Amino acid sequence: MIRCYFCRGKVIEKRVGVDFRWGDELMVIEDVPAEVCQQCGEKYFSPEVYKTMENLVKTKEKTVRHIAIDVILFEEPVLVK
Ligand SMILES: [Zn+2]
Repeated sequence: MIRCYFCRGKVIEKRVGVDFRWGDELMVIEDVPAEVCQQCGEKYFSPEVYKTMENLVKTKEKTVRHIAIDVILFEEPVLVK
């Protein structure tokens, strides 16, 4: 891939952190090879990489640490005059 699907920005290869949702669980996978749009930040993964991420969250064998995540409910924006 050379151009971003959404904004046509330039896409470069990069290692990124991914917030991966699996059912009710949310996991963070670090150091994932991806192609990232320099303009909008959209991340693209190859099917192999995606499959690997799925396996990692299913087995959790490679868990290196645990972090707490706050869940916040969005409120309607307050209009500032
Ligand atoms: Zn983009």
